[in-house]
Amino acid sequence: MKIFVVNAGSSSLKYQLIDMDNESVLAKGLCERIGVTGAISHKAADGREYKAETPMPTHSEAFEAVVYAMMKSDAKVIDSFDEISAIGHRIVQGGAIFKGSCLVNDKVIEQISELGAMAPLHNPAHVIAIKACIKTFGDKIPQVVVFDTSFHQTMPPKAYMYALPYDYYERLAVRKYGAHGTSHHFVSDRVAVLENKDKKDLKIITCHLGNGCSITAVKDGECKDTSMGFTPLDGFMMGTRSGSLDPSALTYIAEKDNLSAADINAICNKKSGMLGISGVSNDNRDIAAAAQSGNERARLAIDMQRYQILKFIGSYIAAMNGVDAIAFTGGIGENDPELREYVCENLKYMGVEIDKEANKCRGKEVKISTENSKVDIFVIPTNEELAIARDTLAIISK
Ligand code: AMP
Repeated sequence: MKIFVVNAGSSSLKYQLIDMDNESVLAKGLCERIGVTGAISHKAADGREYKAETPMPTHSEAFEAVVYAMMKSDAKVIDSFDEISAIGHRIVQGGAIFKGSCLVNDKVIEQISELGAMAPLHNPAHVIAIKACIKTFGDKIPQVVVFDTSFHQTMPPKAYMYALPYDYYERLAVRKYGAHGTSHHFVSDRVAVLENKDKKDLKIITCHLGNGCSITAVKDGECKDTSMGFTPLDGFMMGTRSGSLDPSALTYIAEKDNLSAADINAICNKKSGMLGISGVSNDNRDIAAAAQSGNERARLAIDMQRYQILKFIGSYIAAMNGVDAIAFTGGIGENDPELREYVCENLKYMGVEIDKEANKCRGKEVKISTENSKVDIFVIPTNEELAIARDTLAIISK
């Protein structure tokens, strides 16, 4: 059984075709510059590649290009649509409406569209992509939506409420929703497998550290708290995002520099974080290289991010009254031994012991704590596409 997984942005479309019989990727690819020019790069599992620059005024042309790549190009992997059992879409914001994945229908499309106010960069693009996908693949192949927020829907009110006048929650649905839920779900499930225990019996902290970063506390098999909030800006500093700060700093800056709410939003989302502090880049590799050659702001950015990550982990240990396992994932979590060592060394007081040799790993699933460690520490490469495909299969099998 083959599932086609779609991760659409406003000008890009990432996809994978996954054979669920053995959960192997048959092909993956990316359409870029949709609405501007248009380009596709597609790769089959055996290494055959197809690349083309082709006009993509809308997502419909992008899906046409994907169909050509999958069914007709030199890197083709299927003969017809009939081989695709279902299509799974990644959706960033499901609000409080979507507590789990579900089949696409007109009402679902409308609701995702309405939630666009809370994810203006993502949900409108998802809606366009779902409609274009239906146009290209027809309505005989079931389509499923999988939300980045739904894993966090188990948070209790004490974790998701903001201490603002209650009216903003009732009237505008302002509360914490979280993000990266598909990744936290996948990684926490994986921790339970590696621990050979029921997830319900574990207290787990999952750290998704990439260009966007979030940390989640998982207890009784459920998300109890997460660092991202109403939007993916909240939490700790990321590539270009500030993370949490005193809102009064923002009203002060807005008044002093005569900035609008949209200006402030853009500053916090696109010009802050590692980029804003280092002035070098949003990419941790560039920042590490700059720090190595003596750039003090780059060093400060690294120190700040590590300190903030440590504090979130500490707060979730307190929130869960302990922790059995901590897992690192995402581009930074999977590839930065120094950051992982910093965290573990600072949790020594509670019996965390890192295996320095194992911690040298990059991008591989490895237990990096010693046998004596009171908490198991893992590096677990995330696989959001596979998680979406699994959910899609579960929904169509119901
Ligand atoms: P992601 O958003 O998960 O793709 O992660 C992107 C982040 O991971 C960037 O800040 C990269 O610098 C970082 N990253 C990727 N590979 C490495 C690596 N080998 N060492 C350190 N950081 C890395």
